[in-house]
Formats: sequence, C-alpha cells, structure tokens
Amino acid sequence: MDNSLKRRLEMSPLGRMSSEDITDSVSKFVAHGQGFGMVGTGRSLALFTSGGDSQGMNAAVRSVVRMGIYVGFKVYCIQEGYQGMVNGGDCIKEMAWNGVSNIIQLGGTVIGSARCKDFREREGRKRAAFNLIEKNIDSLVVIGGDGSLTGANLFRQEWFSFLQEFVQEGKLDLQKATRFKQLHIVGMVGSIDNDFCGTDMTIGTDTALHRIIEAVDAISTTAQSHQRTFILEVMGRHCGYLALVAGLASGADWVFIPEKPAMDGWEEVLCNKLSESRGFGQRLNILILAEGAIDQKGEPITAQYVKELIVERLQFDTRITVLGHVQRGGSPSAFDRILGCRMGAEAVLALADAKPDSPACVVSLDGNKAVRVPLMSCVDKTQAVAKAVQERNFQKASDLRGKSFNNNLKTYLTLNKRKPSDEACTIDGKVCSSNFNIALMNIGAPASGMNPAGRGFVRSCMLKGYRVLGVADGFSGLLNDDVKPLGWMEVASWVSEGGSNLGTNRNIPDKNCKEIADKFRQHKIHALMIFGGFEGYQSILKLSDERSEFAEFCIPMALVASTISNNVPGTDFSLGCDTALNVITETLDRLKQSATGSRRRVFVVETMGGFCGYLATMSGLAAGADAAYIFEEPFTIKDLEGDVQHMKAKIKDNILRGIVLRNEKANNNFTTTFIEHLFQEEGKDVYVCRQNVLGHVQQGGAPSPFDRNLGTKLAVKAANFLIEQIEENKKDNNTVYTKSEKSAVIVGICKRETKFTPVNYLQKATDFKHRIPEKQWWMKLRPLLRILAKHESTYEADCEEVFNNHMT
Ligand code: ADP
Ligand code: ADP
Repeated sequence: MDNSLKRRLEMSPLGRMSSEDITDSVSKFVAHGQGFGMVGTGRSLALFTSGGDSQGMNAAVRSVVRMGIYVGFKVYCIQEGYQGMVNGGDCIKEMAWNGVSNIIQLGGTVIGSARCKDFREREGRKRAAFNLIEKNIDSLVVIGGDGSLTGANLFRQEWFSFLQEFVQEGKLDLQKATRFKQLHIVGMVGSIDNDFCGTDMTIGTDTALHRIIEAVDAISTTAQSHQRTFILEVMGRHCGYLALVAGLASGADWVFIPEKPAMDGWEEVLCNKLSESRGFGQRLNILILAEGAIDQKGEPITAQYVKELIVERLQFDTRITVLGHVQRGGSPSAFDRILGCRMGAEAVLALADAKPDSPACVVSLDGNKAVRVPLMSCVDKTQAVAKAVQERNFQKASDLRGKSFNNNLKTYLTLNKRKPSDEACTIDGKVCSSNFNIALMNIGAPASGMNPAGRGFVRSCMLKGYRVLGVADGFSGLLNDDVKPLGWMEVASWVSEGGSNLGTNRNIPDKNCKEIADKFRQHKIHALMIFGGFEGYQSILKLSDERSEFAEFCIPMALVASTISNNVPGTDFSLGCDTALNVITETLDRLKQSATGSRRRVFVVETMGGFCGYLATMSGLAAGADAAYIFEEPFTIKDLEGDVQHMKAKIKDNILRGIVLRNEKANNNFTTTFIEHLFQEEGKDVYVCRQNVLGHVQQGGAPSPFDRNLGTKLAVKAANFLIEQIEENKKDNNTVYTKSEKSAVIVGICKRETKFTPVNYLQKATDFKHRIPEKQWWMKLRPLLRILAKHESTYEADCEEVFNNHMT
C-alpha cells in the first residue's frame, strides 16, 4: 500500500476501528482498498420491489442503484415488481445516478410494486427470464416479503431450464446461455410487520411503529378528556410484533396478538382490570389488537367483539380505531432509511461476491451488523411460524420468533400487571424487603426516553417490593432534600412523555462528596439508578472512586445512558438519540424541500453532539446529505475543496439542492460560518448558501417508539440488576455494603446483547477530554455516506490510485 493511501486510511474512520468492527461489507470493501468500478464491471443487475410496499423501500432502491453503479454494474429498475419483469420492454429501465435523487424521504416505492398472477405460473416466469436475458441481466435484487422471496428462489431454480429451452427454440445462442447459466439473487425484506425470521428488523417496521404511536398519542389526548376506552386495531395477520411493541411503547392496558392467544376466561380478567384502573383514577384505557388476534381455540377476536363486551359489562364509552394503511404511510423514519441504505449496499456487494454455487441470500440486520443469511432457510422458518399459529402450537410460534420477541412479551406482561397494593411485598412467592430504597435521578441534558425508562424502573422495583425515591434535578435536588417516593400511577403517563419529568441537572459530585454522602445516609439510599449522559457516567465513576472514603457509596449503582449525543461508552445506543435523529432528519427534509422551491440552494447545518459525530453522520445518511464533518474523522481544506467542487458539479448537473452537515465541535477553525462562507464564495455563480444551527429542537419531542422500548427494557434490566445486588450484599435489613467494581455499572446494549459493564472497566475505553468512547461502531457507516453522495474525493480517489498501481 502506498504511503499516501496508508495515511488517508489511518485518518479515515476505518483507521480508528479494530478489525472486528469492520464487519459490514462496505467497510471491508473500502478497507481493502477497493473502489469505483472494481468488482461489478461488465455485469448487469436489476432490482424491483414486490408484494406490499413499506416505508424505507426507496432508500433501499437508491442505495442499490448508487452502490451498483459505484462498483461497476449496469443497474436496471423493474417497474411494478414481477409484473414488470413478465411484461418486459419499458418496464425494465436502466438507471442513472441522478434517477434516484430526492427519493430517500418518500414513503412507498417509486418504482411501483404489484402482486402478479402471471409469475405464479411457469409460463409467466419463462417470459420474465427472457426479458432479463435479453438485457444481459444475471443478478437480481428483490425487495419484498416472504412471498416475493419464495417466488424469486423458485425462479432461480428454474432459470437454467428456461435457458435450455430458449436455446432449443433458437432464441438464444449457446455461448450466451453458458455465460449466463446462473441467476444470482439477493433479497431484502421490506415489510411493516417485522414478520420475517432471519433479520432483527424488516424495512418499514420502525416507521409503522411511529405511525401507530402517533395515533395512540393523539387518541390519548381526546380520550383523557372524556374517560374513554379505545380499541386500536393494527396490522399483523400472523405476527403480533407491531401490536406488542406498540403496547409496550404506549403502556396499553391490553394487547391481543396471534402468538399469545388470550387465555380462557380473558373477558373476566380484562373487565376486572379495566374497572380497577378507573378506581385508581385512570381516565383512559387503550387496548391494542393485531388483525390476527385469536383466542385459545384459534377463533378470531375482533375489535367489535371486545367493544361489545366492554360496553355490556362495564358500560364504558368505547371506540374502535382501525389504523389500516396509515401504518404503511408517511415518510420513513431515520432508522428505516439507514436500514434501507445499508441493506441496499450490502445486497450489491453480495451480488458482486456471488459465485456460481452461492445460494440465494437475504441481507439482514443482526444487532447493528449487516449480515447475509440463506434465503430459503429464513423463508422456511417464517412459514413455520405461520403454520405453528395455525396449528395452535403457540409456544413453538413464539420460540421460532426468537428471544427478542419473548423478551418484549415478558416485559410487557410484567409492567402492565395490575397495580400492586401498597403493602404488596410478595410477588411470585418471593418475599422482598421493602426496607430498601433505590434512588432514581436524571443527570445531564434532558433526553427523550428518560421518562418511559423511569416508568419501567419504578414499576419493576415496586413489583418486587422495593421503594423508589425520585430525586428531582440530580445531585442539586438531593442536596436540597428534593426527594420523594414515586408511586405506580404517578408514572403511568411517563411512557409517552419527552424531556425529564423528574428534572435534570448537569452537576456531578466533586468536592461535595461528603455532603452527598450525608444525604445518602439521611434518605437511606441503598442503591442508585441514574438515567443520564456523560455526566451520569462521570458521577458513578466519582462515587465509586470515593467508596474507600465514604461507606454510603458502597452500594450498587447503575446508569442507563440517556443523551441525544450517543457519546457514552458501554452501549451502542443511548436513550434519546433515536428521537433526536428523527427530529434532525425531518428538519433536513424540510430544508431540502425549501431548497427545491427556491432552487440552487446549499444548506450548511450544524447538529449537536459535543465531540461525538453520531447525529451528524446518521442524519446525513438518513437525509441523503452530501457530507457530514465530524471531529472523529479529521478533515482538511483539501477535503472541503473537494466537497465544494462536488457540490458545484452536482448542482450544475441539475440536482438543485445540497446539504452539508457539521457537528458542533467538528473543528475549532473550520466553523459552521467558515464552511458556509467557503461554500458560498466558491460556488457563488452556481448556488446560494445558507446556514442553520439546529440547537435545542434536537432535544425535544415525544420519544420515538425505539427510545420508549429501549428505555423500558433497559430500565427493567437495570432494576433487576440493582435488586440482585442489594440481595447479594445486604448486611442486615437496613444496610447494603459492596465495594465490588461489578456493582457500579453501565447497563447498555452492545451488538444486541444487554451488557452490565463496570464503569471502571470503561475508563480505558474513554476519551475523557472529548467525552466520547474510543471506538464507535457507527463510524463504519461513514464510507457509505460518502459513496451514496457520490464523492470522488477521499475514498474513491485513493482507491483508484491503488487500483492503478496494482494494474501496472
Ligand atoms: P409479499 O412478498 O409481501 O409476501 P406476496 O405473497 O403477495 O407478497 O407475493 C408477491 C408476489 O410474489 C406475488 O404476487 C407473486 O407474483 C410472487 N410470488 C409469491 N409467492 C410465489 C410463489 N410461491 N411462486 C411464484 N411467485 C410467487
Ligand atoms: P430487541 O431485539 O432488543 O427486543 P427490537 O425488537 O426492538 O429489540 O429491535 C431489534 C433490533 O433492531 C435491536 O437490535 C435494535 O437495536 C434494532 N433497532 C430497532 N429499531 C431501531 C432504531 N430505531 N434505531 C436503532 N436500532 C434499532
């Protein structure tokens, strides 16, 4: 490798990552010095969307087209799914880079989707094969559900026989038939139901959850004023994922799902629960019902039946809302767009890698890693779930759905138990001492997700007989004795509220440790739970460091990272960052729209995040930005100049808007104003440049479904952890004492596992000066951002250089 490339790779995000982080094919591809036009040369691929549409499909289409062109494929889009393939002609269109411009923010699929009867017949598939071979297409990307993927696999198996027939019929010469004897297929799952076994998330599910939660929030405001019960029917004929996760995210009173049919006598239990809740002053009841909800006998439970039951037995004012296609509608969430981008790029590279004997695969998400899994085994497993439900083998159905589904179900059931009586200390036969108090506080700036997490935490502790002391405004509130026990109903509405109801403050323990210790003793605090950002992490570190001085700090402590910046070590995601990402992405959409109106406008947008470039990078990917400058990836005037040239060329090429993101602390000298001025001066004949500093809007808003769920789940795990620690380390009925490092942890999500990492272990992995973790998983997505924005600079130029050296 020549020295200049080595230096650039060292400076690039990949240089800061260990090889174990370079997991996605795009990062490997770039790390291996591959680049423009190097792997797909001479081959043609076609992509299509099929079956039901879902939000995020357009991001996937854009990504396949651009990544495909980038690596040297000729890329075709097939209109209207299999029907377009069967019809051929104009339905199979070659795509140019600009042809997918400005679609990432659109719901549905711009290339159309359809159900196709013809393709179910061999004759139809044969016609489709001929239309493909005519255009030399030997690689297909299918974006659809399990039906579409099954069809694709069948097509692949029959392909060679079609070619043989074409040769016999004199329509194809033998040489070409031999060259194209293999059809390569890669699938991506687009479905709002998350009903596909083999991927953690299907493209569209997160957005559908957004639509459902928006509806529940809207309904809640009206229902509150009238004391009403709402039955909300959501999609999911065979899969209760949407209903279950929406139930978790909204604190619904009841969910009906196909995989866990209502037990015999559920009518009685439901009515008791609802009438009890009114007794506690709850004015609103929400019931969520999946389309495919059934009872133990496999009989459907309809919304109408539930309504009649409630009206008859309880005389409650009860309304039904069927959300229907609203769930498939609207602009895709940031997560679905990023998922579409990542899966699209992975699909292209899977096709580039395909060997004659490679089986068809599906690209999917495993934690936060893009992976390839065999298509047919996933389809078989998915169909096995539907069959198990049909055969009423519900345990098998939910086992096949996987650990995460069962975990969601367990969490939902736990938190939505009936309110325990105040004296209740015995749950599930386990006696817990209510003498122990766990303090709960929020530290740092408010982050959406703190409140839902607070609710999950309080309820989990109460169910086990522990008292939670809510401390207002962090350590300042503690020093002012602003401490009071939190109750079951008090936190009910927290599930959907943004900000921090407890109040939060940035102060961390410092010289005042003695005063803080006094307050711990005075309020009898036996364990400490913090929802907070980097200051929360520093607080726990400080308190655990002071354990030898103050016995009061020799108690279990846990932090669930809650900050929009996502800059706390020990977790891949902090609470609030998904909500903020969605706020930023929506704002960027608006800017893009305004630029289209006034034409030829470039926006330089500054995002929050401290030194952490997560928000800038991810929102850049989600909104299709041209560049995102961050601290972690140093940039020079040469890079800026390259980007200015790119912008001018792009705008001259009739893409009339540009977005450049800059993280607030990206560089001391290359300020947002400097970048605006530079872009303005250099591009003054071509476009107008404007600056936008997004500021605190990024912190606000109702928490996204993901933040609510992640908050709830991590809070429950943190509560269980603290309780176990109390039980293990109690000295008598009034004291807990532990100095173990393992009792002061960050509870986080790492590659889809929940991890309890001692804060002391994390110190080595933290850049304290810049308040960021040393390694950040999302850095591997930066090359993709650049590739999809068409950058001739950084990666590509260097790679071409290597390529040329290699060839001569
Ligand atoms: P989804 O992909 O969303 O599950 P469908 O099951 O309706 O949607 O499938 C979409 C299309 O895929 C069908 O209209 C049909 O053209 C094709 N298809 C589905 N299953 C098969 C199959 N077993 N054989 C051939 N084509 C199929
Ligand atoms: P779990 O597997 O913990 O039960 P989910 O079913 O909610 O979680 O989500 C499955 C996976 O998809 C998780 O690994 C999660 O990290 C990821 N995921 C889902 N939605 C989002 C989102 N909006 N942002 C980031 N990651 C997400």
